[in-house]
Amino acid sequence: MSTYFSTQGQVIRCKAAVAWGPGKPLVIEEVEVAPPQAMEVRLKILFTSLCHTDVYFWEAKGQTPVFPRIFGHEAAGIVESVGEGVTEIKPGDHVLPVFTGECKECRHCKSEESNMCDLLRINTNRGVMLNDGKSRFSINGKPIYHFVGTSTFSEYTVVHVGCVAKIDPEAPLDKVCVLSCGISTGLGATLNVAKPPKGSTVAIFGLGAVGLAAAEGARMAGASRIIGVDLNSNRFEEAKKFGVTEFVNPKDYNKPVQEVLAEMTDGGVDRSVECTGSINAMISAFECVHDGWGVAVLVGVPNKDDAFKTHPINVLSEKTLKGTFFGNYKPRTDLPSVVEKYMNKELELEKFITHELPFSEINKAFEYMLKGEGLRCIIHMGA
Ligand code: NAD
Ligand code: ZN
Repeated sequence: MSTYFSTQGQVIRCKAAVAWGPGKPLVIEEVEVAPPQAMEVRLKILFTSLCHTDVYFWEAKGQTPVFPRIFGHEAAGIVESVGEGVTEIKPGDHVLPVFTGECKECRHCKSEESNMCDLLRINTNRGVMLNDGKSRFSINGKPIYHFVGTSTFSEYTVVHVGCVAKIDPEAPLDKVCVLSCGISTGLGATLNVAKPPKGSTVAIFGLGAVGLAAAEGARMAGASRIIGVDLNSNRFEEAKKFGVTEFVNPKDYNKPVQEVLAEMTDGGVDRSVECTGSINAMISAFECVHDGWGVAVLVGVPNKDDAFKTHPINVLSEKTLKGTFFGNYKPRTDLPSVVEKYMNKELELEKFITHELPFSEINKAFEYMLKGEGLRCIIHMGA
């Protein structure tokens, strides 16, 4: 017997936090959420949290602005109903929506090396669903646009089935919701992409939730020195809980931070992971790795007009530059096993959760992030 919700097939009226324009505080509005179409699922979101990627596209600095829009992509919820053709997932399943999908059929999904699905890879400009090119959200018949196919700042949302990971129903959704973006991204950037050998030295640029998850990955991989780099010195105290052993604030030096790191490490770090979104940090993160074997991994979302500039000699001297979305995890195939890492206590999530708020106070979460206060803020949709 599967669960059945009486709202199935109906338009649901519920609360959503609508961004009416770039940088404008979100407004809790009553929206209509249309039923899911072919290969779509409608979710009841129970918890969501704020990631810097939401803030960045909400500010829309140098980005194509798509408004009015419902942001949010780090969340956990329950399936309310499913559209035609959906067989793997049923009402009542516990799920994590993910900003980048897995169709399971394209050459990327079939490749062991890629999670860049041809159909469902991250798209920050599209505000509509693929099936009919329309939004499932509206207010008085006027469309409100989606964000990265998830729009979790709403009590109900419609998502492509390929962007939904079905997880252990025992997993506490108010904790594992942070695995739907930031923590999996940072962890995977280190474990799946940077792959630090045991005993190596790893530099982490940006000690927000994503960077600290990358540090946690370095600790799990057996790195012996983990050097945190951040412009905000308040981050260091917190970072110690995540295995960060040394701290560098670029503002404390009058030379490039890559030179500071080279001096600290006899020529460069073995691995670096950039989790800031700053182009300067990206270049430093690449240049600070050791020649011959160093690997740098970019995670931060850059500005539209940024260009990566480095002298080609850095590449010739056998430094490697990589990048990743979602830590190279395939959302449907791999995310359930990351949830299991939390369930069997290999991975702690509580320490990433520094604030909790009722949905009505969602704008405060934006303030915390803009001030660089805390890591993840869990927003309780039902409160
Ligand atoms: P956050 O704002 O919580 O943390 C970012 C940290 O970087 C802050 O502590 C800030 O002080 C620091 N910082 C900024 N500029 C810096 C610089 N030049 N040098 C050193 N430190 C600097 O953000 P977050 O939620 O942890 O996200 C981090 C980045 O990862 C963002 O750019 C976000 O958009 C991106 N992101 C990427 C993916 C992906 O799949 N690639 C997924 C999630 C988030
Ligand atoms: Zn995110």
